Amino acid sequence: MQDVTNQEPAIDGWFAVDDAGNPHLIGAKCPQCGTYVFPPRENNCPNPACAGDELESVALSRRGKLWSYTENRYAPPPPYPAPDPFEPFAVAAVELADEGLIVLGKVVEGTLAADLKVGIEMELTTMPLYTDDLGVEHIVYAWRIA
Ligand SMILES: [Zn+2]
Repeated sequence: MQDVTNQEPAIDGWFAVDDAGNPHLIGAKCPQCGTYVFPPRENNCPNPACAGDELESVALSRRGKLWSYTENRYAPPPPYPAPDPFEPFAVAAVELADEGLIVLGKVVEGTLAADLKVGIEMELTTMPLYTDDLGVEHIVYAWRIA
């Protein structure tokens, strides 16, 4: 058995952790029309009525309301890593009111669809997705009940 000595994001640049240890998502905002987008990108404003082509990186709200959810009862196909035996997990679509965005994400282990209800307050957290052969824990953002 290997000790976990390192953690790194499974996907670079989608979330960050502030000095207090609280994770937040990183989105992008159009300085011309104020439209937000997630995942972040550097150009091409998503607003069809806006010609803005340079988006700035911004921290998104850490909390939002549960807009929709589902439960995944089947292991994803390769190459996606899945624990064996597979454990069902919930997926939440959370509405960030200030940004007008709906962000999909896994729900933390131990919380399944039966525990969720549309409209409840959800909070961003992180969780390990898998540990690689070098003992590096790969971290993803996740939602938990606030
Ligand atoms: Zn714009």
